[in-house]
Amino acid sequence: MQLTPLEPWIAHKIGLTGQQLDIKALQAWQLKKLNETLHLASQKSIFYRRHLQGFPNELGCLSDLQQLPLTSAADLRANPLAFVCVSQDEIARVVTLQTSGTSGLPKRLFFTTDDQELTTDFFGVGMETLTKPGDQILILLPVEKPGSVGDLLRQGLQCVQRTPIPYGPVRDPQDALMQIDRLRIECLVGSPSQVLGLAQRWEAGMHRPRSVLLSTDYVPQAILNTLENSWGCQVFNHYGTTEMGLGGGVDCEVRRGYHLREADLYFEMIDPSSGKLLPPGEYGEVVFTTLTRQGMPLIRYRMGDRSRFIPGQCPCGTQLKTLEHVSGRWEGFLTVGEQILRLSDLDEALFALPGLLDFKATLQGSPGQEELLIEAIWEHEVEDSNAARSLLLELPSLQSVDVRISHRYEPDYPGSLQKRIIHDLRHQLPL
Ligand SMILES: [Zn+2]
Repeated sequence: MQLTPLEPWIAHKIGLTGQQLDIKALQAWQLKKLNETLHLASQKSIFYRRHLQGFPNELGCLSDLQQLPLTSAADLRANPLAFVCVSQDEIARVVTLQTSGTSGLPKRLFFTTDDQELTTDFFGVGMETLTKPGDQILILLPVEKPGSVGDLLRQGLQCVQRTPIPYGPVRDPQDALMQIDRLRIECLVGSPSQVLGLAQRWEAGMHRPRSVLLSTDYVPQAILNTLENSWGCQVFNHYGTTEMGLGGGVDCEVRRGYHLREADLYFEMIDPSSGKLLPPGEYGEVVFTTLTRQGMPLIRYRMGDRSRFIPGQCPCGTQLKTLEHVSGRWEGFLTVGEQILRLSDLDEALFALPGLLDFKATLQGSPGQEELLIEAIWEHEVEDSNAARSLLLELPSLQSVDVRISHRYEPDYPGSLQKRIIHDLRHQLPL
């Protein structure tokens, strides 16, 4: 089992001379960088100057961090510019995230050139697990804008002697499959539903990729199984959002959870209701603090994602933490009567159906008389709405809900870093 390449990379980043990571040295680095970040944010960011007032701006140990207040997505949406710690002309890239659903204001994230280089560096090293020097890698993420996720990945791959083929989000699956076949592509990087769309249309005899990296907030097991069964390839997960600077963590060969950019990001697990820190092994909400970001540091930012730190050492031998694959979001759960409806439940049921490529879920109606509308995209001529409906009606949370399946919706492009949600329109009905 090959050690995650993140370990020697992090050891080098924090100034250790050997390949071996000393965990005490990493913790000392994290504490030093946390304190630098606190100083920077409380002096330069209008938001944090107010938010951290009355709290210590010098931590004596890592666990002191839990005394500081959390930062929410709502804080970020309310006034993104108030987070910025540098002058406007030092900002190299602004990413605007439109919010799905009804919550309104977009989120904006600001990055300096140095901030982007940190991510590029991570992307290159992270890809060493699943590719070899000289491999051709098809990038199905947005690539056009300088500093976009696909563009940073392209640069990162070049640094580790791989050959990136920027392609962008798939609009014509047949064309993408032709490229994979013609160029003998070894590895694909894309969002789960896009890569699923390719695997569903793949035909025997065409070239098959050896590995796939799915980049998103979480990957339904049903999609993973379909990819591995049709291509016999290894599927790796990348955990990264724009807030994290586009890259957060990536699977090692063991593929049971992500190892994280621990020299650049400090992760915590909290109880989503009380906000209290949770020990390894317990499921909670992922929270992170940036350690090296200059443009727009984030302190104890709540991701809303549900996961846990897997206790004990990873079989790859690393001393880095292992964050279990994210299994949905705390914030995305809807209450239906006394039951909880999760997008992950819908994903596992629907993506197991042959020919279903993607769907959008909307809960509408009024309490006690709810209707779940599924707008699905199917592979040509294999639509099976009855099967989809039967699978959904087996879910306990949908026992008292009217389930309707309609076909086709236009997916949001580029969409690959957009968080998927169940759209809740129950409160928008006229009384
Ligand atoms: Zn590992």
